[in-house]
This record gives sequence, C-alpha cells and structure tokens, in this order.
Amino acid sequence: MEIFDQYEIWWITGAQLLYGGDAVVKVDAHSQEMVEGLNKSGVLPVKVVYKGTANSSKEVSDLMRAANNDPKCAGVITWMHTFSPAKMWIHGLQLLNKPLLHFHTQYNAEIPWNDIDMDFMNLNQSAHGDREFGHICARMRLRRKVVVGHWTDKKVLEKIAVWQRVAVAWADSQDMLILRFGDQMNNVAVTDGDKVEAEQRLGYHVDYCPVSTLMEYHKKVKKEDILKLVNEYFKLYEHKHEMEIPASDEYKAVWDAAHAELTLRAILKDKGAKGFTTNFDDLGTADINDPKFVGFTQIPGLASQRLMAEGYGFGAEGDWKSAALYRSVWVMSEGKACSFLEDYTLNFNGADSTILQAHMLEVCPLIAEERPRLEVHFLGIGIRKAQTARLVFTSRPGNGCTATVVDLGNRFRLIVNDVECVKSKPMPNLPVASALWKPMPDFETGAGAWILAGGTHHSCFSYELNQEYWEDYAEIAGIEMAVIDKDTTIPEFKNTLRWNEVYYMLNKSLC
Ligand code: MN
Repeated sequence: MEIFDQYEIWWITGAQLLYGGDAVVKVDAHSQEMVEGLNKSGVLPVKVVYKGTANSSKEVSDLMRAANNDPKCAGVITWMHTFSPAKMWIHGLQLLNKPLLHFHTQYNAEIPWNDIDMDFMNLNQSAHGDREFGHICARMRLRRKVVVGHWTDKKVLEKIAVWQRVAVAWADSQDMLILRFGDQMNNVAVTDGDKVEAEQRLGYHVDYCPVSTLMEYHKKVKKEDILKLVNEYFKLYEHKHEMEIPASDEYKAVWDAAHAELTLRAILKDKGAKGFTTNFDDLGTADINDPKFVGFTQIPGLASQRLMAEGYGFGAEGDWKSAALYRSVWVMSEGKACSFLEDYTLNFNGADSTILQAHMLEVCPLIAEERPRLEVHFLGIGIRKAQTARLVFTSRPGNGCTATVVDLGNRFRLIVNDVECVKSKPMPNLPVASALWKPMPDFETGAGAWILAGGTHHSCFSYELNQEYWEDYAEIAGIEMAVIDKDTTIPEFKNTLRWNEVYYMLNKSLC
C-alpha cells in the first residue's frame, strides 16, 4: 500500500571492536545479507534499511539522533551479533523517540557440530549479546517489542511485519489532523476526553471546524461534479432502476449525498485532515424550507461510508477518539476489511447470543460480504428528518478484533475484544449496513468485561487485526491495554483492571 512506501525501518547491528576489525567486517556482511533476506522475503510491508554496526556509545547516539530526525524512519530494529556492552547504548536509547524492536536472532541457524570452534562462538554471540542489550532496555524501562527466532523463519518475520504496520500507523498518527464538524453529542461521556492529553500521548491533533465554514465549501461544489459522482454511484452499487429518474425524490437524495461527499472531500483535502467527525444536530442552516437554505439535508452518511473505505478516520456524534483510532486501524489493516461500528441491538439466544453492530448510516463497506446496495430511506433522528441515501449490506462471517480508547481521567485505556462475526438472518426492514458478532469468550463474559472496563458503544473493528497488533500499539503509545479474549474470566479481568489502576498511579510518566 502506498503509505507503507513512504516509510522505512532502520536496522542497527550491535557489535564492539574487542574482536578486531575482521570480526566487524564479517558482522557487517552478515547484517547486510540478513537485511536483504528480510526485504526479499515478501513478508514485510515496509523496507528495512541497514544502518551499519554500532561499536561505541557515540556511534549509537549518532544513529539514534539520525533516526529521530528522519521523518521516513518509522522505527528501529536492533540486533546484537556479537557481545555489545550495553552501557554504550544508554545515551542513544535515551534519545530514541521512535518505536523500537529488539530482534533476538542469529546469522547462523544450526550449530555446525563438526566445525564449531572458539572463533565461531565469538562471532555468533547473540545468545548472550541480546541478553545484555535486553537488560539495559529493562533497566531503562524502555517500551519495545522483542521478537525471537531465526531471520529466515516466516512466522518470525510475520511478527516483525505486524510491528511494522503498527509503527507506520503510529508515524501516520503523529501528524494526524481530525476535524470536528459540530461538537460532541451533548451529554455523552464515553466518547469525550482530553484532547490535549491525546495529542501528547497519541500524537494526533483535533480541531473544531465550524459548520458555517463547511458550508462555504458546500456552496462551491460544481453541479457537473455532483452529476459525475451520482453516475459513479449507480455504476458501483446495486440500486433500483427508478432511483435514476432525475425527477424522483430518491434521485434528489442521492444527489444531496454526492453533494455532501464532494463538500467533505474538498475541506478534508484543503485542511490536510486524515479524519473527521459529524453531529446529526449540526448540519448547516436550521430551516430546510428556507429558500436560502444551505446545508446538508441529513447527516452525510454515504460520504462517511465511502471516505472510511478510503482511509479517512471517522467518528459519529463528535467521537474524535474513534475517528483517530479508525484511521490507525485502516493503516494497520493495509486498507482492508475494517469499519467504525456501534453496539446497537442485543440478540439473546442462549449460547449463541450476539450483538448487532450497525450505525444510523455510517458503516464502512470494506467489511461488506456482498456488493453494497445504494438505498434511500427516511431518517428521523437529529435536526433534519429527511430521505437520505446510504449503502446497505451485511458483513461476512469470520474472526476479527474490535478496539476502543477511553479516557479514564488520569490515563487512556485501550480495550480490545476478539469477536466472531456470524451470519445474520435476513432483516428486510432494516435499512442500514450491519455486522453480527459474538464477543469472546462468550456473550456474557465479553460484553460484561467490556462494560467493566468502561468501553464505548463505538468501536473500530477489523478482520485483519489481532491482539498482537494492539499489544504493539499499546506498547509504542505507552497506554493501558485491557484484553478480552477466549481466556478471559471476569474475576481475573477485574483484578487486572485493579492492578493496572495501581501501576498507572505509580508510573506518573505513563498517565
Ligand atoms: Mn453512534
């Protein structure tokens, strides 16, 4: 994916000059071969760039400073080929502000039993070199991922690939702008939070954009562009033939949806925003019957659906935390099979109890099982009560993972739940897209743990992600992570939350 081509991961090999220049030459050659192997494996989404051996404190510090200053560098992989006394890493690691992966591997795979001698052992020393490095990271309380295994093993490389995707999502969120068209939905607690802390801790910036400014863009959209987009909708999506009759109410609603999409596209591009929120109570001039009416005829649902599929972060009702998180989910998922969703309706059915995930309109078509249908229906929520266009579909069965970030006052908590999507029965009268899932380990425990952790009704779901991604994300961000999976029990989960409370109270730097 294009975004992965904009970044690179640096590889630094730890060594020292104790064994003489010849050893370092070999270390260097081995490292180059390994990095080349990684890049040719076809497993890693981001190019690894070999930055040479680090043999002294100064060399380490110079490399870390350079990594910090290079906007292309999304993270650093370190590996100790020989023994690399770790005091020489202290200053450099203190400087490093990019994600760190410590790769515990070895150039050589199996021991050459007949030929092994002291020279061989002195060259292949990662077994203890990486422990020395690990110690200093632990002593410095550095957040990092440790990956263990041979560098040619696909399963090992896949762990690095996961971390790479997260590192790029992290880099991407450091200059992320989220625009809020309208405020939070009044009185809602769980989607609100500390935007200053979010910028300090998670990187992204959240701005309010007056709807009057948005409407200036609305006025400037050209009719011919709207017409082009309407025709594109008809080509892309299933729809009733009558919808194409320009005099019909349905056509008018599709026209308004296309107009809204072009408005949002224009302002997001102009402001350089990677995500946005909407609010159904703030859509422009209040009176839709006023001849001077300028505004959206209803929330721009179809636009939100389509922009989400392209990677724009989206949160409904002013939910900027979900908008930012969705953008990161989309990046980590490499633009595949993810959506903003809301726990809408419960389905009690014994051991097969499930939760219907939907929204008023805004579900991303990337999770659709079938070709989405363009439909127009009345939506009576919010300041407008009007016919409005949307894409309708159901999601495919399969395992996935959903996540949210909540603000607990003294810290952010990431809550992650493994879920199993199942096929829903036909819902001929439900005019919105949906997914149906069973939270792990079962409906009662999954939903109960989510509620105990204070999780939102909004979450960011992906078929592509699993816990490992979120573990890497929480590690890089330095935020709490509460996991709900097949092994979760309520008593243990409650204890974890209690222990975390103490941990974050004691570690003020993480709050
Ligand atoms: Mn909602």
